Amino acid sequence: MKHTIPARSGKAHRLEKGQSVRVINTHGNQVVDFWAFNANDFREYMGMEHCRAFWSRLFPVAGDKMLTNRRRAILTLVEDNSPGRHDTLIAPCDNERYGLLGCTHYHDNCRDNLHAGLANLGITIPYTPNSLNLFMNIPWRQDGSLEWGNCLCRPGDNVLFTAEMDCIVAFSACPQDMLPINNGTPTEAHFEIV
Ligand SMILES: [Zn+2]
Repeated sequence: MKHTIPARSGKAHRLEKGQSVRVINTHGNQVVDFWAFNANDFREYMGMEHCRAFWSRLFPVAGDKMLTNRRRAILTLVEDNSPGRHDTLIAPCDNERYGLLGCTHYHDNCRDNLHAGLANLGITIPYTPNSLNLFMNIPWRQDGSLEWGNCLCRPGDNVLFTAEMDCIVAFSACPQDMLPINNGTPTEAHFEIV
């Protein structure tokens, strides 16, 4: 079944161990912030710092397991049908981030999208883990500097994850329109439970 993540919004969904979710970059320009929580204990969640240590890499490639903050596998990236650029360094955007970029009014953001998506499942958590930023292109240089790259995807590019434990997965179609990561135009994306 295909679910829409409306532009600038978030969704969450329960995933049983062994089920898979395909995250689809429908229009080819859209970063999707992605989280996973242990369905039985929300204090355990996919941890980017833990993943990078396990992979010895900045972002996952097909076959990599996603680790939680308790160093257990929560998901496996089974397929990557995209250019393979994802980001694990940048925190999910929030209203304060847009304020620092010069925005003077409330701006839709991935933090609030996460919590809105979880609230639709009756879940409240008091913190925001760092997200796996699917399709987000953050080139880095040897001197440590980062760039905000355009999204490199084509319409329909996608990634497939399989659950290694019962979990809650959450998605935000990132509403970033002040930096070029969504090629200037935040759009909807989709996910499919398979
Ligand atoms: Zn965002």
